[in-house]
Parts: sequence; C-alpha cells; structure tokens
Amino acid sequence: LQSDALESPAKKVCTEEGHSSAVAAHYNELQECGLQQRSLSRIFYLRNFNNWMKSALINEFLGRVREKKTRNIAVLDLGCGKGGDLLKWRKGKIDKLVCTDIADVSVQQCEQRYVEMKERARHEHIFEAEFVTADSTKELLSTKLKDPNMTFDICSCQFVYHYSFETYEQADMMLRNACEQLCPGGYFIGTTPDGFELVKRLEASETNSFGNDVYGVTFQEKGSYPLFGCKYDFRLEGVVNVPEFLVYFPILVEMARKYKMKLIYKSTFKEFFEEKVKNDEQKTLLKKMQALEQYPPASNASLVSNHEEDYEHAKRT
Ligand code: SAM
Repeated sequence: LQSDALESPAKKVCTEEGHSSAVAAHYNELQECGLQQRSLSRIFYLRNFNNWMKSALINEFLGRVREKKTRNIAVLDLGCGKGGDLLKWRKGKIDKLVCTDIADVSVQQCEQRYVEMKERARHEHIFEAEFVTADSTKELLSTKLKDPNMTFDICSCQFVYHYSFETYEQADMMLRNACEQLCPGGYFIGTTPDGFELVKRLEASETNSFGNDVYGVTFQEKGSYPLFGCKYDFRLEGVVNVPEFLVYFPILVEMARKYKMKLIYKSTFKEFFEEKVKNDEQKTLLKKMQALEQYPPASNASLVSNHEEDYEHAKRT
C-alpha cells in the first residue's frame, strides 16, 4: 500500500485482552537455534524461501524509495521478531530503523543481534536503531517512540498482520500504526497468509483441518467466515503453534483508505517468485540463500521466518 497522506486522522486506543498475550507468550518461548540445527529441520528450504521472498520485496520497495531520495531513509519493522530482517536493512543501507514487537524477549534478542552486528561491522556505517515492545493492535506506537513525530519511508510487516484480524479495532490499530507515520508517498509492505487459499483448502478437506505432517491448519468450523475473529490454529514443525486470524484482503484495502493509503501492488508468493526469478541478481540470491531444494523448483509455499545473518556467518567461517 502507498501513502497519499497529507494529514493524520484522530487518535483512538482500544483495550480488549483477546489472544494477544497467548501470541506474545508463544513467540517469547521460541528458542533461537543455530544454523546447524536449523539446516536439519524439515522446513529448512521453506524458511529460506520465505526469507528470500522478504529480501526481494524489501529490495524492490527500497529501490522505489531511492528513486525519490537517497539519504535519511527510515523504516518501521512492525512485528520484527528476533530481528531476522536486520541484515536486509543493513544491505539496503537505510539510516534509521525502529523495531517493534509484542514479545519482549524477541525485542531484547533483536536488540542484542543489532549490537553484535554493529560490533562486527566496525568499519561500515550501520543504521541507527530503536527497539520498542508494544502490542501494535492495542497501543499507539508513536507515543512510545523517542521522537513521536518521526516519519518513515517504509513500514515492513512480515508475517504479522494476520494476528490483528481478531477484531476490527485491532486490525484498525495495527493499520494505523503501520501507516500514520509514513511520509507522503511512503510504503506499507508485508507478507501474510492468503485467506482465499486457506478457505479453499479447508473447503476441499473433509474435516475442519488440512495440512500434512509438517504443517497443519485447524479451523473451529467450516462454512462460516466472519470478517474479523475468524480464528484458526496454525502448526508448523518446531516453529509455530499459535492462533491466527483469517485476513480478508479486500477489507484491508478498504480500511487502509482511512489512512490515505491506496493499493499499488499485491501478489501471491508463486506469482512474485515467478516474476522475480527472471532477474539474474535475484536468481543468484535464491541459490545463495539455499531457498530451494532443487532448481528449477518442484514446489514452493508460504509462511515463517528467516535468520539470514547465519548464512553470512556460515560464509565467513
Ligand atoms: N517479522 C518477523 C520475521 O519475518 O521474521 C517475525 C514474524 S513472526 C511469524 C510473527 C511476529 O509477530 C512475532 O514476532 C510476534 O510476536 C509478532 N506479533 C504478533 N502479534 C503482534 C502484535 N499485536 N503486535 C506486535 N507484534 C506482534
């Protein structure tokens, strides 16, 4: 989504409890495991592929920002997790990054990772960073920033926005946090599960669930899909086992108009992959990040996170 904004809408805070604390507890408990252990995981290529997708998306939109400005590029990483995208922002040579997440342990690990990255790259100029623990579906981020009037060129929200679709108020607050502080012309980019695909697979299943031994999705019921609060449980081997909410994308686009945002680009992972892989640079990155088990690919899929630094580390050692 791209901002047309000239002025900000009125401020509003919502206070329901809902599933947020379960989500935060889940991510706080997730253990960081090393490259060696991760490469043994059955979802090794899936993680790398998703990581490559994020790199390609971030590069694309940083490129668009750079067409208009080359200095003072500021980014909001909304739902930053443990900081798996830090290296992407470093490679993108941005100037300022605000990392925020609901899970305080993740935010601490993200900050630690940033400090270590900065120490390792002593001779390179690394962006300034700020770390904020907040539930972006219930709190107004600007009130927690050192400079509440700070503006961003990009808000990046990777595999996070679906947690907000518990209620309209929560989805609206996260959208507000993502968009309200964007500069005019700024971008809200992200990745989220495809609601249409989830419902298609559910409807094709004989039960309330679908998946395989690596992943599983379980809905409470079939045939009823409320616009908000349509909860499903998502399980992914060793990584996620947490409640999520179906995102009906046309509603998101409509809601974003309130924040003077217009949709300029949307694609499935498959379409995006097919478009990007035509580019030699992206093809090389795809191989370097071990994002596909075989090339050309037999199949590809969605979801989960990253840890690109490990590949850098592995290269060095
Ligand atoms: N963006 C990171 C990445 O791509 O590696 C992390 C993605 S992880 C699948 C989802 C993240 O969303 C978790 O770190 C979780 O704590 C965060 N999250 C979930 N609900 C949130 C909320 N209400 N406010 C802020 N962060 C939230």
